[in-house]
Amino acid sequence: MKSIDRNQLLESLSDSEKTWDIIIIGGGATGLGTALDAATRGYKTLLLEQHDFAKGTSSRSTKLVHGGVRYLAQGNIRLVREALRERGLLLKNAPHLAKNVSFIIPCYSRFELFYYSIGLAAYDLLAGRLSLGKTKRINKSEVVKRLPGINSKQLQGGIVYHDGQFDDARLAVNLAQTCLENGATVLNYTKVVGLLKSGSSICGVLASDTETGKTWNLRAKVVINATGVFVDEILQLDRPGSKHLIKPSQGVHLVLERSFMPSVDALMIPKTDDGRVLFAVPWHDKLVIGTTDTPLNEYSLEPVALESEIAFILKTASGYLERTPTRNDVLSVFAGLRPLAAPGDDSSQTKEISRSHRVLVAESGLISVIGGKLTTYRQMAEDTLGKAIAVAGLEPVPCKTANLPVHGSVNDKDWNDHLYIYGSDREKVLELINEQADWAKKIHPNYPYLRAEVIWAVRYEMAQTVEDVLARRVRLLFVDARAAIAASSITAQMMAGELGRDENWQNQQVARFTELANNYLLQP
Ligand SMILES: Cc1cc2nc3c(=O)[nH]c(=O)nc-3n(C[C@H](O)[C@H](O)[C@H](O)COP(=O)(O)OP(=O)(O)OC[C@H]3O[C@@H](n4cnc5c(N)ncnc54)[C@H](O)[C@@H]3O)c2cc1C
Repeated sequence: MKSIDRNQLLESLSDSEKTWDIIIIGGGATGLGTALDAATRGYKTLLLEQHDFAKGTSSRSTKLVHGGVRYLAQGNIRLVREALRERGLLLKNAPHLAKNVSFIIPCYSRFELFYYSIGLAAYDLLAGRLSLGKTKRINKSEVVKRLPGINSKQLQGGIVYHDGQFDDARLAVNLAQTCLENGATVLNYTKVVGLLKSGSSICGVLASDTETGKTWNLRAKVVINATGVFVDEILQLDRPGSKHLIKPSQGVHLVLERSFMPSVDALMIPKTDDGRVLFAVPWHDKLVIGTTDTPLNEYSLEPVALESEIAFILKTASGYLERTPTRNDVLSVFAGLRPLAAPGDDSSQTKEISRSHRVLVAESGLISVIGGKLTTYRQMAEDTLGKAIAVAGLEPVPCKTANLPVHGSVNDKDWNDHLYIYGSDREKVLELINEQADWAKKIHPNYPYLRAEVIWAVRYEMAQTVEDVLARRVRLLFVDARAAIAASSITAQMMAGELGRDENWQNQQVARFTELANNYLLQP
């Protein structure tokens, strides 16, 4: 397999004669899905990401591929049906990353048993032939057996239903690879800092390499703004003073040892004290608990969990778990921002703001895609391309992504082998050890991640920094922030060898990563 030469990709930007068919700003799931859709239809496609792929919200989700039981309760049938269809497609196209998981709703009254069994049966029905399994009622002892660690006081029984679960950042990395394989150019660490106009119409972007500061004027027939919570920044570049389209809503997750609930199944709490949904989901051999829904007026690439959100999750979880989790038990805390479409008025109740996506075309021809969910990224891309073709006057070509395998797609995998995330690349990662036996060593004694994975991330997954590797190629920052800090030194050393960097770079990388990872730790 040929390694990805990022410098060569950057050089391709210097061709001043070139006009791209489509330039996409933003390398989260939405932008990458759009780039893949465009490239597979045969359009000359460029995607620019200001930081790393999935640095934004697309690495900070609850990791569910779901229709959204909550949206069903709100009567949003169209959204649920669309998401359930997309859930089926993602499980088929990225079977190495997304899997069918049983979720158990513990019920504490006969009414709850009745209510949730009817609701979840409707969820199954909406999934149709893409259903992942039938909803069923189970008795109290089965709930306790399947969810060891659950608080069984007053428990009456439970409802088991099926949904999907995946690795969000890994999907982004694999989408970037699939884009490249289909002829697109995708670049991380390349920020759009301006828009080019011909008269009042957008005709390209001004992009800057965030490491060297080098800039390029890049021409395109259409420009797509897929920047999540940053959408309004690009709109301001287009038309200063534009109305804000996004209302960010923060969601926080806490990661605990799996021993708090050593189950294969996930726990779903459909109605917390303040009417939210809380999940406790096994993920990379830990337990991810979340989330919150806190309206914010500001946004950043590194949102920080509020104390009130942490307290809410710990308190709610302790009501359902036999062993009360405390701050000291939290291995990692991560926050993400939902790029929700703002309502017309300035409501701060983000639970009520639309979760469905919108594709908007500005007078200048700039296309912005907002809202949505990771689960529906492919449909969002298809809808966006529909608009882009019309705006740019491109020769229409039908969408090809519904049945397109994502890079690494393989059905034969062992979820207990941590290398499963590489799918069809698994053997190639291990083959690196033939080059240097040392690469078979782990980067941290308590975790299975190998030095070979660091090399793989640099050569084949465009990782540029220690953070890229430890946060989004292997997920150690999200799994255990302390262990990630401890692994940063060897990771920097391995990367420096590959990227031709000196000791100074290594020290800077370790210092920068340590500072960042400290935000994923709770002070006692
Ligand atoms: C707490 C939480 C839990 C969630 N759980 C789920 C879930 O379980 N399942 C689900 O389906 N969905 C879930 N979602 C929703 C889902 O994560 C988001 O809808 C999705 O990740 C948004 O992707 P995006 O590509 O639109 O935005 P992002 O992933 O944020 O990507 C936007 C990108 O644009 C880049 N960018 C910004 N400005 C520029 C610029 N000037 N130049 C270049 N690049 C730029 C940013 O760096 C960023 O990487 C959750 C969301 C949150 C917050």
